[in-house]
Amino acid sequence: MSEKANLQNPQFVPFTVREIKPQGWLRRQLRIQADGLCGNLDKIWNEIYESRWAGGGRDGWEILPYWLDGFIPLGWLLDDEELKARGKKYIDCIIAGQKADGWLCPCEDKDRARYDIWAFFLVCKVLTVYADCSGDPRIETVLSKALHSIAAHLGGTLFDWGAARWFECLIPVFWLYERTGEPWLLDLAHRLEVLGINYEKLFLHYADQEPQRRWTFITHVVNIAMALKSGALTSRFRGGDPNVFARMALDKLFTWHGTAAGHFTGDECVAGTSPVQGTELCGVVEAMYSYETLISVGGAAEWADHLEDLAFNALPAAISPDMKTHQYDQMVNQVQCSVLPKDHVVFMTNGADAHVFGWGPKSGCCTPNFSQGWPKFALSAFMKAPDGIVSVLPVPSELNCTINGTGVRITAESEYPFRDSLRYTI
Ligand SMILES: [Zn+2]
Repeated sequence: MSEKANLQNPQFVPFTVREIKPQGWLRRQLRIQADGLCGNLDKIWNEIYESRWAGGGRDGWEILPYWLDGFIPLGWLLDDEELKARGKKYIDCIIAGQKADGWLCPCEDKDRARYDIWAFFLVCKVLTVYADCSGDPRIETVLSKALHSIAAHLGGTLFDWGAARWFECLIPVFWLYERTGEPWLLDLAHRLEVLGINYEKLFLHYADQEPQRRWTFITHVVNIAMALKSGALTSRFRGGDPNVFARMALDKLFTWHGTAAGHFTGDECVAGTSPVQGTELCGVVEAMYSYETLISVGGAAEWADHLEDLAFNALPAAISPDMKTHQYDQMVNQVQCSVLPKDHVVFMTNGADAHVFGWGPKSGCCTPNFSQGWPKFALSAFMKAPDGIVSVLPVPSELNCTINGTGVRITAESEYPFRDSLRYTI
């Protein structure tokens, strides 16, 4: 047991799909997503329906969990039984594949040491998303065994994506700790922080001001977008101001790599301020999730402003109106969406077609991962404060919750950001 084991409460506690019902344009947007690529990806892409997670022979790493991370809350927010059943089918497969010692990922036992554990962190996070949506009573036990397995596996090293994204595992660790209070979980949190990349030091002495032609984990735009929430997460067991790290990191990122869309470039490592440089769609949705986490843990209004900037600019810019195609890299000053000439590829480490629209341009990450953008945004419309309810985003939404034993219903009627008026009925 650790010397000091406790977990501070977040400033605001997120509500779940049982309490939040998006309305108006936001609900229509989710329906468009369900009718588009996200809602049909398991029908058209063999990396999903033949995934090793589900007993097939294709990807057994991040693709399926990435998709479920958005597809599951989408189905439950829309209360669409068909979508829910398809999501649950894959969760059932993942649970069925759990080994006796708790290991969840589809790899041979002899290959565990080489398996990049980032996907294990991700699937554990997805299980908490599913549990919050469905209330499935199996998840607590599955997750406890899984996190025990991670704790036993870690030993002395993390590498590659696992080292870059260690803090994502804090989300399921905290989720379980809030239900069980078992001290070993906070020992695991400490261990992950010790073994992972130290982003505080990275930004304290920030040396990556120049556009990066060399690919590295510490300049990769998605890792950085995800890491914006790392200081807020660690503040829950280590103490300190949950907002400080993200403010410092963003100050440097916006100075050296900022865009007019309120984001930073990365194609796919940080790429300077030129408006012809791109930024990866995964980085957009991961920054949104980081801001949602920062709103919850840190409680500062500025994170909601950053979140709106991305939701109303960078996110829709990279996805077609029917949500059937998307870009890998978006550019602020994009005047055409055709493949670049071989001798005029502007991107640092991405190819000539990284900015064209398609259902799966470039790598297989953004295609499943952009699914999380709108559902998690919709789930952040309201949060619970110690003394009441916070209206985080002035978007059309309905909240049904219980405060001190009293049922409360709030509707926010709004066309924001298309109109400026907002009407609450409480
Ligand atoms: Zn991506």
